[in-house]
Amino acid sequence: MNDYIQSLVDANKLDKVLKKDAWQFSSKPYIMSGPCSVESEEMIVEWALKMKSIGVDALRGGAYKPCTYPIRDSIGNWKEGLREQGLEFLRTASKESGLPIVSEIMAVDQINEFSLDCIDIIQVGTRNFQNYSLLDELGKLDIPILLKRGTWGTIDEILGACERILVGGNEKVAICLRGVVGAPSYRHVFPSIRWAPDIMMIPALKELCNIPVIYDPSHSTGYRNFVPAISAAAIAAGADGLIVESHPNPERSISDADQAISFDSLKDILIKIKK
Ligand code: PEP
Ligand code: MN
Repeated sequence: MNDYIQSLVDANKLDKVLKKDAWQFSSKPYIMSGPCSVESEEMIVEWALKMKSIGVDALRGGAYKPCTYPIRDSIGNWKEGLREQGLEFLRTASKESGLPIVSEIMAVDQINEFSLDCIDIIQVGTRNFQNYSLLDELGKLDIPILLKRGTWGTIDEILGACERILVGGNEKVAICLRGVVGAPSYRHVFPSIRWAPDIMMIPALKELCNIPVIYDPSHSTGYRNFVPAISAAAIAAGADGLIVESHPNPERSISDADQAISFDSLKDILIKIKK
């Protein structure tokens, strides 16, 4: 570590909590994949088995989905996700496949539900990145937390949010980078691109802390054709793993359809980065 970085670390007392030996994922790179949203029991169970067959390490799936427009974005019994039922389906998928599951929590009052429902990795979404009361409560658990960066989050805000969970006693924190504001220059050609990839934050965080860094090539690109390139770039830049949205029929995903990738595309990514 150079003197400048050392002085930042010292000034912020980062070494106390952020530089100590971090919790590590069971394999590297650690790959989490699955649909943006859990859509039905059959779909998530079948997909879990397929994920397992190609060496994915954990199954992702949103049960509670924070949508931009709550009325427009709800369809039938899918009201910003299948909610409690979605968690139940994930648990079945986990039992059938043996894969751990990762799913997003939205509020403090869901903490019991998530811990009792055996969610193996609790995802904190971008919109809750600075929900301090939620982070404080997650700090009291002994369940891994995947903390997604707010689209506005500075490096101090990322480190501070992690510190909040760590000081509560929960040392199983991973940072997830998922793109930041600044993508509008693409939108006249690629309308689904909402965020700009934030690859350089990977080595920057590695200088300052020992917390694992996971990259999300799905939300950061917003466009499935760019997911393989940005996945490879993130791993090359030192990411400890990826969280990738994949779907049996990507164009028909109930949410985030433009960025979902197919089984074959995911398999190709895995072959390249797991070798
Ligand atoms: C998601 O992972 O599906 C999600 C909503 O991500 P983010 O919180 O990064 O927008
Ligand atoms: Mn999504």
